[in-house]
Amino acid sequence: MKKTTCRDLRGACDAEIQGETPEEMAEKSKQHVMEMMQSGDEDHKAAVESMMQLSKEEQEKWYEDFKKGFYSLQDA
Ligand SMILES: [Zn+2]
Repeated sequence: MKKTTCRDLRGACDAEIQGETPEEMAEKSKQHVMEMMQSGDEDHKAAVESMMQLSKEEQEKWYEDFKKGFYSLQDA
């Protein structure tokens, strides 16, 4: 199990996000951001908007880099 923070996943806070795989971590991060947005958090809304402004290529590159770096993250 690895851990990182919301902020390190282009989010907006220091909430800890854990996952066994990059896919699981990305999914949990997405859920966290959605929950925060639903509770009306402006910072997370802005984080999502900035992610949406990246091109598809940039988003894919970010995800590839995230997957490559996943196993060097701290153990949870
Ligand atoms: Zn967050």
